[in-house]
Amino acid sequence: MSYPLDFSEYFRYDDLTAHLHGLADAYPELAHLQSLGRSWRGREIWAMTITNSVMGAPESKPAYYIDAHIHAEEVATSHTALYTIWYLLSNYGSDAQVSWLLDHTTFYILPRTNPDGAEISLTTGHHWCGNGRYLPGEEQTRGLCQQDINGDGLIVQMRIPDPAGEWKISPDDPRLMVQRQPGEIDGTYYRLYREGVIKGDWDGVTVEIERPRDGNLNRNFPAGWRPEFREYGAGETPLSEPESKAVMRFLLDHPNIAGIECYHTHAGMILRPSLVSPDSVIPPEDLALYKRIGAVGTELTGYPVISTFEEFTSDPANPRVGSLMQWSYDEMGIITFSTELWNPELAAGVADPAKYQIRARSTDDEIALLKYNDEHLGSKGFVDWTPFDHPQFGKIEIGGWTHMYTFRNPPPASVAATEKARGFLHETMHNNCLFTLRHAACAPLLQIENPKVEALGGDLYKVSATIANRGFLPTHLTQRALEHDTAGCINVMLSWQGDVKCLMGQPSVNLGHLAGRDERAATWSPWMRDWHTTRKPVEWLLRASEGTTVMLEASAPKAGTQQITLKLGGA
Ligand SMILES: [Zn+2]
Repeated sequence: MSYPLDFSEYFRYDDLTAHLHGLADAYPELAHLQSLGRSWRGREIWAMTITNSVMGAPESKPAYYIDAHIHAEEVATSHTALYTIWYLLSNYGSDAQVSWLLDHTTFYILPRTNPDGAEISLTTGHHWCGNGRYLPGEEQTRGLCQQDINGDGLIVQMRIPDPAGEWKISPDDPRLMVQRQPGEIDGTYYRLYREGVIKGDWDGVTVEIERPRDGNLNRNFPAGWRPEFREYGAGETPLSEPESKAVMRFLLDHPNIAGIECYHTHAGMILRPSLVSPDSVIPPEDLALYKRIGAVGTELTGYPVISTFEEFTSDPANPRVGSLMQWSYDEMGIITFSTELWNPELAAGVADPAKYQIRARSTDDEIALLKYNDEHLGSKGFVDWTPFDHPQFGKIEIGGWTHMYTFRNPPPASVAATEKARGFLHETMHNNCLFTLRHAACAPLLQIENPKVEALGGDLYKVSATIANRGFLPTHLTQRALEHDTAGCINVMLSWQGDVKCLMGQPSVNLGHLAGRDERAATWSPWMRDWHTTRKPVEWLLRASEGTTVMLEASAPKAGTQQITLKLGGA
């Protein structure tokens, strides 16, 4: 059976839900859909578990976790996560990489961790980050509040003539607003505000801009959490929001998770830890892992891999705290990437795109973007300045860049005006999906090799085997996980039914950890990092009657569980 899916338009909650059910129903042997709980507004937070159950239960394999759409506007992230679900299910059995992955590993994919916020962004013009605790209009009670005042369904900008204004009309294109230079006088200047009205009593002079209270679920996680007055969007307490709490519960309930991707938009970059410290604080072995796995991501997506703290933090004195990646790597030691999908500046051919999207773009870059808008978006990305009689500011103009399908997300087919533009969304989903498959395939993977029973005469038997890690990563994943003791250890157990006496060896053996092949990044040299073993032998001497069956099990939290049965003597 198959489940064809058209990804050319973004999905609202009901459609997404129907497709998830449709996929789970079409592939019952590979997919299992569950709800992790409900959002503030009662929507389910879906998680899809994908693995070939015939080759082992989901929790008996190392797992890869993907979450998406934690920030309301970032709808391309849930599209990419859903595409990955679809890609894995529809290619099992025909694509060797996908088949190997689902036979040996498990995927946990949460395509829309913030369903309320997503619905707000998909159905209103509001600029929204948070969840459904507040609704548009409730999130601010005073000051200038965003609102679609001309009823065109969009919230863009207000251009208000002001001799003290910071902006002027560009001589190169009358649509463009460019910054007035220091010391510049004698022109027509404007102040720019987000389209809206002033709520509460207004003195007719002061325009207060409040930070909205819509929240930011990716500041609501426990690691480094700071209260709202120090970290915008943090929430009342760590995990105060049902959505972040459901995510955290899921991660804690699945200790087999050995790799993580948290999708965001937009920047066209693969962010890695740390969020709060320079690279010198990361164990060198872990930094090397981030660079080697990240390089695969760059090759597949074209996105550079950068340290969030070193290159994606506008004020190093106030780094972002309370994010999931800070917890999942800094605390749990799981290699986590947080990819910021899509950058329209790259699509527009801007050579050095802005990283934070908070600086005024150069005139050249703005012109390149306008050209991209005119050519590829059929001018839908920019609203021409139109006179409007504002109830508080009087005669103003409304216009400027739209946001959702220009900057935040690649254009869906209904916005894209060219074949090339229609390709951006697919390219974004597909290339990033491929990177997560490669990252997932890095997991440590336990195997029992060369199991043997030797009859030593009489009722004595020697049972032996080699326990191997065939993965790229060591069974402890990272040095950080070793430091924090979050990766457990390899346990090897020999068990039996009936009368067996173990004369040498313990029925349960703590084997410590096994290295991965990541240590062997070059041929051996005494000046390089030490190599550790990727295989260890185990053996037991048993006294048992001929024909007794013993079971050998090797397991590690991050490397899966393997079981075999052996018969002592006889045919
Ligand atoms: Zn985001």
